Formats: sequence, structure tokens, C-alpha cells
Amino acid sequence: MTGKLFVLSGPSGAGKGTLRELALKNFDSLVYSISCTTRQPRNSETDGVEYRFITRENFENRINNGEFLEYAHVHDNYYGTLKQDVINELERGNNVLLEIDVQGALQVREKMPEAVLIFIAPPSIEELEKRLRARHTETEENLKLRLKNAEHEMNLQNEYNHVIINDDLNKAVNYLREIFIQEGCA
Ligand code: 5GP
Repeated sequence: MTGKLFVLSGPSGAGKGTLRELALKNFDSLVYSISCTTRQPRNSETDGVEYRFITRENFENRINNGEFLEYAHVHDNYYGTLKQDVINELERGNNVLLEIDVQGALQVREKMPEAVLIFIAPPSIEELEKRLRARHTETEENLKLRLKNAEHEMNLQNEYNHVIINDDLNKAVNYLREIFIQEGCA
């Protein structure tokens, strides 16, 4: 395999999505691996673009068939990365970017220790709550669940190769660029 695997994690609302989009725009050799999930699509989302939206039954069958490189139960839904998707891209020589939660990232590290793990942290939990509320995408109950999970995720940032504190988007993008250059991917 010639490509490199990059994993972006961090609490919901830390800015992972924005950083991911900027990285994909800036680095031609980087491809995004589209995850499977059992959660419902949001209004703006399309099946096969943000996620493959599949049923719980379909997801559980794939777990039993060993199709996932990693998967996790996050905010009451399953999310997972298909092993074959990642292997195909790496074998083509592409660098692959996953945007997954901490449980998934630690599974990837077990199976592919050469993967580069990058944690995107918000400046504070208060700022994270502000950003999540401004997004208006979650119910109050779901928002509380996301904040609770965020604290747990923040405690695991030491497991990562790099930590980017996203208090300024430009600085965060530059740091991400430095990491790609350091890894020979830019
Ligand atoms: P959202 O529902 O906001 O799209 O994503 C919720 C969380 O699930 C985010 O932290 C996101 O990184 C994580 N996630 C998305 N795809 C995957 C995946 O394939 N595997 C794992 N483990 N987590 C994922």
C-alpha cells in the first residue's frame, strides 16, 4: 500500500467538518472515505455524499461479516468505515482521510498503527456549546448528549499524534497543512 491514512477526530462542533473540507480542497492526493451510518439524514444531506445512510439491520449484518475497519455507537447511532473502501484507495496510491469519533480512531490505531491521528479540539467546552447551539441541527436532548460525549473525547486527546486547537480557522488549517507536509503528502 502506498497511500497514507489520516484520521481526524474531535468533539462534534470542534470544526472537524470545515477543516476536512478545506483539506480536501487543498490536497489533490487526499480522498475522503464516506462512512456508513444508521442515523437519519439531515435536510441538506444526500445518501452517498455525506454518508451512506443504511438501516440498523444492514449495519449489523456488515459488522457480522467483518466489513468494517472500525465502527462505533455514537450519539445512539452506528457509524463505521468500510475496510475495503480504505484499502482500495490506499492501494491506488491515494491518501485517505477519515473523520471519525475517538472510539473508531483507537480501533484504527490498533489495526493500522502507521495511521496519523489528528485531534481537533475546541478552545473550551463553553465555546463548543455556543457553536453547537448556533448550528440549530440538534434537539436539546441530543445537544446535551453531544456535550457529555465531548468531555469524554477531550480526555482521550493524548492518544493522538497531533492536537490542533481550533480557536482560529486559518491557524488550524496551516497547522493541518504542516502535518501533511511533514508526512510527505503535500
Ligand atoms: P454527525 O452525526 O454529526 O454527522 O457525526 C457524529 C459523530 O460521528 C462525529 O463525531 C463523527 O466524527 C462521527 N463519525 C462519523 N463517521 C464515523 C465513522 O465512520 N466511524 C466512527 N467511529 N465515527 C464516525
